[in-house]
Amino acid sequence: MGNAKIKKKENNNENNILIIVNLYDKFIEESEIVAEREALIKEAKEKLFLKREDAILVMIYYKWNLDKLDNWYDSPEENKVKAGIELSEKTKEELDKNIPLNSKNCLICEEEEKNNNFRSLNCKHQFCINCWEEYLKEKLKYPLEALYANCPQNGCTCKVYEKFYSEILKDENSQVKLEKAKNKNFIDRNDDIKQCPNENCNLYIKSNKHYAREIICPCRASFCYKCSKESHSPCT
Ligand SMILES: [Zn+2]
Ligand SMILES: [Zn+2]
Ligand SMILES: [Zn+2]
Ligand SMILES: [Zn+2]
Repeated sequence: MGNAKIKKKENNNENNILIIVNLYDKFIEESEIVAEREALIKEAKEKLFLKREDAILVMIYYKWNLDKLDNWYDSPEENKVKAGIELSEKTKEELDKNIPLNSKNCLICEEEEKNNNFRSLNCKHQFCINCWEEYLKEKLKYPLEALYANCPQNGCTCKVYEKFYSEILKDENSQVKLEKAKNKNFIDRNDDIKQCPNENCNLYIKSNKHYAREIICPCRASFCYKCSKESHSPCT
């Protein structure tokens, strides 16, 4: 850890406080989190020639780690299945056994298809908008998992893409919840970003070094990078 920079901070009349700042630890605000997420989506989109919505699913699957994009071309078809963009032929066949062919009814409430009231993901499992609304509202109650939710069809591994939420749930409350879910999912799955555990602090620490070490936030909270608990020793 030779990268440490020692910063002396004067604090009015108190003693000088010595703060060790690692150069690879950067403190960022929530607005920068959003920008960071967008930058990663853009990169995935361009590198893999995917639609934005598919690129988001890929980045969630790869835990927002850009290095993993290099594995994509080993087997793009298989990776599309793993990321939840499409179903494998095998799963499709398996699922089709339980679904009436060319059904004109919602697979949940059996309502008939009329006036463009049906929606589906790439798997083509058709549900009416009311059933989708109910399903997605329930999912949004759990912001950590909401953006990696499966299609409601039993056994289907197709993931609900981000924009699908806003296409179905147009009320403001749901939009607010969706924004929260986006950030929560991003921070939780991304090992490069940690939230300061001080509830009164809105800062995040960004770092590509993931080992346990003491972090001292500008708010003065000190905690372990790896487990986010109070600094403990040894904390290296
Ligand atoms: Zn329905
Ligand atoms: Zn499905
Ligand atoms: Zn803090
Ligand atoms: Zn720890």
